[in-house]
Amino acid sequence: MAIRGWRPVAAAAVAAARPGGGGPGRGPGAGPAWGAAPEPVPEPAAPATAALYVHWPYCRKRCSYCNFNKYVVPAVDESAVGACLVQEARTLLRLSQVQSITSVFFGGGTPSLASPRTIAAVLEAVAGAAHLPASAEVTLEANPSSASPARLAGFRAAGINRLSIGVQSLDDAELRLLGREHTAAEARGAVEAARRLFPGRTSIDLLFGLPGQSQDAWAQGLAAALGLCDDHISLYQLTLERGTALAAQVWGGTLPAPPQDLLADMYQTACAMLVAAGFRHYEVSNFARKGALSTHNLSYWRAEQYIGVGPGAHGRFVPWGEGGRSREARVQTLEPDAWMQEVQSRGHGTRRRVVLSPLEQLEELLALGLRTDEGVTHERWGQFSPQLSLEAVFGEPGEAQDLQQQGWLLLDGGGLRCSVRGLALLDSLLPDLLCQLQRRWAPPAAPGWGAGAARRSPTGDRAGGEAAGVVSGGCGE
Ligand code: SF4
Repeated sequence: MAIRGWRPVAAAAVAAARPGGGGPGRGPGAGPAWGAAPEPVPEPAAPATAALYVHWPYCRKRCSYCNFNKYVVPAVDESAVGACLVQEARTLLRLSQVQSITSVFFGGGTPSLASPRTIAAVLEAVAGAAHLPASAEVTLEANPSSASPARLAGFRAAGINRLSIGVQSLDDAELRLLGREHTAAEARGAVEAARRLFPGRTSIDLLFGLPGQSQDAWAQGLAAALGLCDDHISLYQLTLERGTALAAQVWGGTLPAPPQDLLADMYQTACAMLVAAGFRHYEVSNFARKGALSTHNLSYWRAEQYIGVGPGAHGRFVPWGEGGRSREARVQTLEPDAWMQEVQSRGHGTRRRVVLSPLEQLEELLALGLRTDEGVTHERWGQFSPQLSLEAVFGEPGEAQDLQQQGWLLLDGGGLRCSVRGLALLDSLLPDLLCQLQRRWAPPAAPGWGAGAARRSPTGDRAGGEAAGVVSGGCGE
């Protein structure tokens, strides 16, 4: 499982690798190029709220396509891991000085392998260190093989109020190909049990674009899922990741690679079927009806603050408690044993801190916000760029106007957003928009300002080839 619409994995890496990108201790504007920004940008006020992500890094079995930060070990010292999660949550909440947590998401790995007692302890620590409203969305990712009705009831008693179930497919042959631990019948049972316990708040993940999968097979699988699901579905195109068993089989010629045209058709078919079934296509990979949008993931796409707890977790917040005044990208130590030692010795396992420049923050806001149907609102843009408006950047003749004329993009009173057609092509649109932003932000002839700064977008989507991801090519300067 652990497939998500967006993982903040690539963002920090891009920021760190970017020419002039900040390293630990670098302040905004310290880079050689965007130091020449046309107007000074005041430090944003520290929001008193944040979302919180908690990473449970263990799985029982390695799926054939997965390169997430997960570990299959003979035995997990759950009390030690749980104590470290509690300790790190307390530390990072203190460093952020966040007063209220808007949502909590337990991801992995397979967090449904953790005991409800551990989940409850983390939530109690969060509620003890910051306000955690009773209405806050608290999601747990669950694998169907560790989602019995009794376990799910235990998670509900622990404080979980939303489940995200890694169904992936309702076809046993496809599940075997994916190396999943569960059968289609187990997935059905888990979703039915979850819907009884979490009515209206059960999401399912599905994968498409499997080697050898036909358009008809995908449409039939999705129709079956529509007969089973609740009010939220996440769809991900399978991507072949280096080092995985599935990629080796496809690249070695044992399995066929799905043609790009077929993948695009599968995505369009799915969008049409889900919209016809009453779902709102509110993000590139996510669909909801009856208002069941994931508020936690929305906080990523709206570039709000979030705190990442656990091995390899990422965060974005201002560390006021450490004297910081600027938003940082933070990455926790990947490997669980090393992470635990760090948490035990200094209270947290933060491995890397990167102060994000104002331009980098705007790039993230753009790349993430455009994934949603609401896009980047004027208000949100103004929070990050009070002096250079959306119109000032994208309302002038240039790439954005060209994209508007072609029907891919909209800039109006609501802000900047993709059209329905444009959402599917975000990958292709984003490089041009980032170039336009960079040009407006810094004079074209600024020394050190080169195409390299636009080579990669600050988003990472491990599972959606249709989604914003690696942006190739420069700004043509
Ligand atoms: S359950 Fe499978 S896909 Fe999910 S993190 Fe574990 S190995 Fe990866």
